[in-house]
Amino acid sequence: MKKKKFKMIRNIVSIFVVVVLLFGIFAIVRNLTATASTDKLSKTKKNTKTMAEVSTEKADNSVPMTELTVSAPKTSIRVGEEMQLAISHKPENATNTKLKWKCSKGGMVTITKDGILKPTKKSGKNTVTVKAYATDGSKLSTSFQLRIYPAIDPSKPMVAITFDDGPNPDTTNIMLDALEQNYAKATFFCLGQNAGYYPETVKREFDLGMEVATHTYSHVQLTTLSNEKLQEEIDKSMDAIKKATGISPTLLRPPYGAVNKSVLSVVGENKLCCVNWSLDTEDWKTKNANATYNMVMKATDGDVVLLHDIHEYNVDAVKRFVPDLIAQGFQLVTVPELYAARGETLEAGTIHYRTDPTTQESEETTAASSEDGAVQTDTEAETTQGN
Ligand code: ZN
Repeated sequence: MKKKKFKMIRNIVSIFVVVVLLFGIFAIVRNLTATASTDKLSKTKKNTKTMAEVSTEKADNSVPMTELTVSAPKTSIRVGEEMQLAISHKPENATNTKLKWKCSKGGMVTITKDGILKPTKKSGKNTVTVKAYATDGSKLSTSFQLRIYPAIDPSKPMVAITFDDGPNPDTTNIMLDALEQNYAKATFFCLGQNAGYYPETVKREFDLGMEVATHTYSHVQLTTLSNEKLQEEIDKSMDAIKKATGISPTLLRPPYGAVNKSVLSVVGENKLCCVNWSLDTEDWKTKNANATYNMVMKATDGDVVLLHDIHEYNVDAVKRFVPDLIAQGFQLVTVPELYAARGETLEAGTIHYRTDPTTQESEETTAASSEDGAVQTDTEAETTQGN
């Protein structure tokens, strides 16, 4: 009897212990899950903060997207500029097309509902990946890379490096690498003929935010042409560049720097502005990297520097002077950036050589008088045959 009673008590105690243990395990598991989901929640909250746009309304997800594409007009942008992203999706009747945006480095860009992207002030000298996510449950996403150039400081010295006669992929690309690595810009006066041969190099110049301009189609001296032939040179070169970049150039560098009033008038009718130079490296004459380097290093604030991107002997010069000019405090900008920073305009049908320096002491400048009427004559042009 006693034995039976003991067994019963033992069984009850065992069941009790098991129940208590089960409760304990359940409580622990519940606790862990709760912590995990709070973690998730706080992570989501954090992510949400870095996104430019967050949908708060309840969306109709009945027809989800099956395809989402976002493309930027260029692979680079400068602080102070903005770009319109092209956003498209399939099917046309997708019910919720709202996107969430995320940047690989927090706080570097903002994107509006309409897809206008702006880099923030602190974002200069960064390359970021911008990712767009669908919010309709389709889990679609797409991304693109963006190189962000620092803002221009108009109170600091700057020069516009310009390259003529290109592109030549073998040399132009190495020069572009040097510019890209240093977040530096330049202006490329392409020959329409070469742009037609190597559109991908022209496209790379454009993507990197370089100014792509025309140096005519076949490098003829414009002052020797009839208006009809001149128009043909302009049309063919503009077409070749537009095919490569999607944009018509606004600047023209006349071969040999040769212009006269009649050329300027035709150029103006084509909404083009002529830009010559204030510092000629004479690279075509010396054919020597050291000599070209030394010439470029003589640049002063506001200079427009002339060299050629088609020559092998210039590659080393470019690799050296780009970082060295920056180390000396120069900003390397495009011609339009230089003129905009100095509040000077580049009107169609006019010719320019350089901008006034920031630290200008007297009103008398060569640039101002050149702009107004000093047009290079044919005879002068012949002395600069290499350009
Ligand atoms: Zn030339």
